[in-house]
Amino acid sequence: MTVTAQSVLEDVFGYPTFRGEQQQIVDHVIAGGDAVVLMPTGGGKSLCYQIPALVREGTGIVISPLIALMADQVAALENLGVKAAFLNSTLTPEQENEVCRRLLDGDLDVLYMAPERLVLPRTLQLLGQAHVSVFAIDEAHCVSQWGHDFRTDYLGLSILADRFPGIPRIALTATATRATHEELTARLRLENARHFVASFDRPNIEYRIVPKASARAQLFDFITGEHSDDAGIVYCLSRKSVEQTAEALAARGIPALPYHAGLPAEVRAENQARFLREDGLVMVATIAFGMGIDKPDVRFVAHLDLPRSIEGYYQETGRAGRDGLASTAWMAYGLGDVVSQRRFIMSGEGDEAFKRRSLTHLDAMLALCETVDCRRMQLLRYFGQESGPCGNCDTCNQPPTTWDATVPVQKLLSTVIRLDRERGQRFGSGQVIDVLRGIESDRSRTSRHEELSVWGIGADIDERQWRAIIRQILARGYLESVGDYGVLVLGPQAGPVLRGEETVQLRHDPTPAKAGRGSRSG
Ligand code: ADP
Ligand code: ZN
Repeated sequence: MTVTAQSVLEDVFGYPTFRGEQQQIVDHVIAGGDAVVLMPTGGGKSLCYQIPALVREGTGIVISPLIALMADQVAALENLGVKAAFLNSTLTPEQENEVCRRLLDGDLDVLYMAPERLVLPRTLQLLGQAHVSVFAIDEAHCVSQWGHDFRTDYLGLSILADRFPGIPRIALTATATRATHEELTARLRLENARHFVASFDRPNIEYRIVPKASARAQLFDFITGEHSDDAGIVYCLSRKSVEQTAEALAARGIPALPYHAGLPAEVRAENQARFLREDGLVMVATIAFGMGIDKPDVRFVAHLDLPRSIEGYYQETGRAGRDGLASTAWMAYGLGDVVSQRRFIMSGEGDEAFKRRSLTHLDAMLALCETVDCRRMQLLRYFGQESGPCGNCDTCNQPPTTWDATVPVQKLLSTVIRLDRERGQRFGSGQVIDVLRGIESDRSRTSRHEELSVWGIGADIDERQWRAIIRQILARGYLESVGDYGVLVLGPQAGPVLRGEETVQLRHDPTPAKAGRGSRSG
């Protein structure tokens, strides 16, 4: 009996047909070709290497950074009757010997290991003695320093090209910017590979980004209004905010669990297992949670803090709706996010070039938040894919109106200049707004702010609106927020506006939402 890709698909995995480009990918690798596969989360990457591993003679080696998930992945394959195992630090020496023996005996279809394990001399020697059918490099974007998940150990994987030139290699990732794509191709020495780039659109995910007022109350309204009893993930930036948010939701009757790297390993494992097993749980987590999690019915992903990059946003939101049913990617975002993310980058580790790259990533994310165009179009364009307005995002459903903010922006920029030149003062947004609105305080009196020509020139605009203006023009580079306190200084784009050579159109922020408003019918 000959084993074909189609028969394995049906008999082992129980699926009648391939999806998207799976068949072409599988055929190419079975024939011995190298492949680079860019496919969104949920697209079906696993079959692209599992089927070649089963059809070709020998053992398929799967390289993955996700040690914590290997046991589950292996158990799932064993359930299907596939001979699978993993090699990692959780095994006892006896278990490890057993796996090595099975590998050498040809008793394994698939073997998982982390990159740091693969590059050990003893592992390479072991693989040299075994019969390897294919190398699959999962989460291949981890080799890219430009990306957001860089792992040094991935750099070592280039050795496969030299050591095992006759064995096909397939690299897979759900990150698809041109930079990452090029970098992983070069660094993994896949210059002869065929490239398979799937559409990154996730049509069943509705994108929505709302201005942050009181984030936890907005989140609560969102969940109870549209997703009560649904499973979802809420991402927060800090461990503290994870715990507080989980407690706040639980106190109001939403079953929520915390997940972050500071929790004991048992608690993390337990919460993750419950999230996968039980229905309708909400996982409140830092971005430590989610990579490789295969829960098809996550109905929403909510961000309470701004992600650092579009890649991150896309990956995190991509965990919603893997079953193809309608799901929501919801985010609350405000001026504070812009200031704190910039501060985080500037005060963080890494050289100047790294910081510049991080700021570029952040700027692209901000542009997505502030766009008046279809969010999906913006998102896909970032990944180099063109599309039309989608009809399933907030800007399509409720097109934002814009207003001519040139004069207020000129006033604001002038205020920042005057404070700096005439008083030697650099302030954060709150105090700049106070000067604009002419709000008296101890500071305004000691600094004689009322003598400034700009004192009170923005009294016609309320504080909330000023904050929305500042947030939007930070995103566009008219202003910059610098230093530990997020003081405002002129940005590189300020000149033409101040000289009246350029007008500024800003979007009206929608009025703060009440529960139930902005539902899917909108
Ligand atoms: P990815 O690794 O790209 O995120 P997976 O390989 O985990 O995606 O696949 C996502 C889901 O789609 C899984 O539940 C998988 O069983 C299912 N799937 C993949 N390929 C097919 C197919 N050809 N037919 C039906 N279901 C599929
Ligand atoms: Zn749209």
